[in-house]
Amino acid sequence: MSRSAHPAGPRHADVLPEGHYSAPPTDLNALDPKVWAETVTRTESGAVSVGGLDVTRLAEEFGTPAYFVDETDFRARARAWRTAFGHDADVFYAGKAFLSRAVVRWLYEEGLNLDVCSGGELTTALSAGMPADRIAFHGNNKSEAEITRAVEAGVGRIVLDSFQEIVRVAHIAQGLGRRQRVQIRVTVGVEAHTHEFIATAHEDQKFGIALAGGRAAEAVRRALSLDGLELVGIHSHIGSQIFDMAGFEVAARRVVSLLAQVRDEHGVELPEIDLGGGLGIAYTSDDDPREPHEIAKALGEIVTRECEAARLRTPRISVEPGRAIVGPTAFTLYEVGTVKPLEGLRTYVSVDGGMSDNIRTALYDAEYSVALVSRTSDAEPMLVRVVGKHCESGDIVVKDAFLPADLATGDLIAVPATGAYCRSMASNYNHALRPPVVAVRDGEARVIVRRETEDDLLRLDVG
Ligand SMILES: *Cc1c(COP(=O)(O)O)cnc(C)c1O
Repeated sequence: MSRSAHPAGPRHADVLPEGHYSAPPTDLNALDPKVWAETVTRTESGAVSVGGLDVTRLAEEFGTPAYFVDETDFRARARAWRTAFGHDADVFYAGKAFLSRAVVRWLYEEGLNLDVCSGGELTTALSAGMPADRIAFHGNNKSEAEITRAVEAGVGRIVLDSFQEIVRVAHIAQGLGRRQRVQIRVTVGVEAHTHEFIATAHEDQKFGIALAGGRAAEAVRRALSLDGLELVGIHSHIGSQIFDMAGFEVAARRVVSLLAQVRDEHGVELPEIDLGGGLGIAYTSDDDPREPHEIAKALGEIVTRECEAARLRTPRISVEPGRAIVGPTAFTLYEVGTVKPLEGLRTYVSVDGGMSDNIRTALYDAEYSVALVSRTSDAEPMLVRVVGKHCESGDIVVKDAFLPADLATGDLIAVPATGAYCRSMASNYNHALRPPVVAVRDGEARVIVRRETEDDLLRLDVG
């Protein structure tokens, strides 16, 4: 990849900084459909629209910064996952990526199930009418109160994460006169990120029970012996933003070998296997995610093959995509404030949000794209860093990108693929008011999570 010979001269950085991922795009006005939600297009006026609504109008009505989620796209992606996995498998949307009551209803209507990992997420799911038996409860440190509430509500499964929790859930369920359906989360010694995975024998992380050293087999033995529990399967989640199926292949093979061991030792064939989430999306044009039907086919084949080899009945598969459903369906709309050219380096573009509405760049060194959306421009590309308004030099939204050199205060810019882990990880740092989430569909916009107000801040501060 060429990192030199930038056409726009020194002000626009004729030598790209170390580690920059690509040269400027040929057309700064183009919107790559890989990174933008389905109904996003540029209108004749030059402004971008979503769901048939112009972003300049949306900014006037809802203010900035704001997240706009394309409901049509969300439903289409949810449906694509559901259809791809068919009736012999279950799709659990990972609520931590982004959860609101409207989203719960979309998921319910599109036939998906839901993962929650806290009492707050459980409350949101139940209050929006998700049937409890379609909810799975996760987490490495569920409180007794949370477990009690989940069992009382009748959640479809609790995913057990430790030896202590096996006993804790069994005890609570028994106390309530219930037999709780559970899976055991195992760590299979596969750590997967983006284009590579590492297979290890040892696990040094907080989640799950290791397959290594017979720990997971011991957990199964204990779970099977407890009256309060109905052990239905094994769960594995190997990472996030994964493009390469090889990590899932190793994970599936190791989980199936545990199922075979359980059959041999206890005469029980556990009926379910959950392969977790972590499927990658396109944050920039360099990313090439897989389609749900390719993923379903690949996972189905791997599990079927491994089960045939082990002479096991193929268990019911479930998956837990979060990012892959909601991530690409939303963008964050910002207004440009200060524009500060740093001679020979790049131009810092400050927006009216920042790490309080998107922590991923600071936290994970995540890459994002950005575009001028309130108008088109024929100006040459300028290398920018989009930063927020927080008191922190790491307050970066988009590390390196190109915007037109005539970018000015008051322009609207948008960062696509912010549907997952942005609003759900948003904070009040610097007493920022967390932005609203606005759902757009067929020419109509509806606030599904309202903007915080200063009254909200003061209400929590009891003086
Ligand atoms: C986070 C998580 C997911 C979802 O991950 P994505 O990268 O959003 O697909 C699924 N399952 C479990 C157990 C998780 O912790």
